[in-house]
Amino acid sequence: DQSLAELDPEIAAVLDGELARQRDTLEMIASENFVPRAVLQAQGSVLTNKYAEGYPGRRYYGGCDQVDIAENLAIARAKALFGAEHANVQPHSGATANAAVLHALINAGDKILGLELAHGGHLTHGMRINFSGRLYDVAAYGVDPQTYRVDMDKVREAALEHRPDVIIGGWSAYPRHLDFAAFREIADEVGAKLWVDMAHFAGLVAAGLHPSPVPYADVVSSTVHKTIGGPRSGFILSKEEFAKKIDSAVFPGQQGGPLMHVVAAKAVSFKVAASEGFKDRQERTLRGAQIIAERLASTDVADKGVSVLTGGTDVHLVLVDLRHSALDGQQAEDLLHDVGITVNRNAVPFDPRPPRVTSGLRIGTPALATRGFGDAEFAEVADIIATALRDGASSDVEGLKKRVDALTAQFPLYPGLQQ
Ligand code: PLP
Repeated sequence: DQSLAELDPEIAAVLDGELARQRDTLEMIASENFVPRAVLQAQGSVLTNKYAEGYPGRRYYGGCDQVDIAENLAIARAKALFGAEHANVQPHSGATANAAVLHALINAGDKILGLELAHGGHLTHGMRINFSGRLYDVAAYGVDPQTYRVDMDKVREAALEHRPDVIIGGWSAYPRHLDFAAFREIADEVGAKLWVDMAHFAGLVAAGLHPSPVPYADVVSSTVHKTIGGPRSGFILSKEEFAKKIDSAVFPGQQGGPLMHVVAAKAVSFKVAASEGFKDRQERTLRGAQIIAERLASTDVADKGVSVLTGGTDVHLVLVDLRHSALDGQQAEDLLHDVGITVNRNAVPFDPRPPRVTSGLRIGTPALATRGFGDAEFAEVADIIATALRDGASSDVEGLKKRVDALTAQFPLYPGLQQ
């Protein structure tokens, strides 16, 4: 029985290289995080061997007594954490969770209304070549061209015009809260179901730092690996009324056997998310994003045509507008990569540049907050980013990289871990 290094040194080298990359750079992709070691342990466990089609107590395979315990814990913890009537913890990912939600709520050909992809929506909310765009009749609402915020009067107008069967609230790139009560009213007015995809902000909701969609939405979907900081996967919460439909849409509607090692890791993450330490981390996440937004809005950077969409943030990310900067999104992403900061370029609403280049950056703080960063460290990161975006091609890359190195050294990631 060989170790990974003995059996497959090439893949072992990838794991080592990736651990070194995560340790030596500043991870600021808004959808990423660092899982606790307990999650690595659960995911790397013998539970990966087990088939468990079905649900606890109702499996199509024998030998499920242990994995039933894990799934029941994950379900109970998810329900308690978010105050939900029903939870399904089997979706392999956010995208499969979303496919199951639509499968449960409507039929092919029915109409959905969600946030425009180019304004911060997700692929699964109706992008043309995604399953959602192919199976359903798609209409979209956008952000206001002046404020860059979702204007609920416009959402209502769009709902009255298109008469959707499902209205989607949720986003992948949007820096403000959504008004879930207003979404509910609009859904009721046009006779639509309300589905909220809280994949990005679920950790903030769990910590009580963001309004919860759970009291308002018929169904809420989420990932576990973004602000929650758990394993890469999804889950669905719903009103009891939709419980059976959601469960059968996940299995057998979308998936076969659940990934029980991941389900166990979800249970661990939901336990962590109910702790005081988790709340503190989400508070640092939010403050970090606000510190970055403030620094990027200061005059030395603004004079170079860099601005922050909506002028700030209420969540874990900042959207940087580079439409008037000498740097485009790709160049800005590459420059920050060279100084040791990982972010992703992101189209801004009404972006004149193509999606592979873009005129924006999405900068997130969850992973660094998990690493232990507080206000002082976020102020230093904010200044490194601001200086790079201000100086552009003439940046002192070596000097900025040294400042990044000092931060990574001060906050070791997974100390002592060997893969
Ligand atoms: N929903 C939203 C709002 C997202 O931002 C994402 C991920 O980017 C997803 C769903 C999909 O999650 P996954 O990548 O796990 O399929």
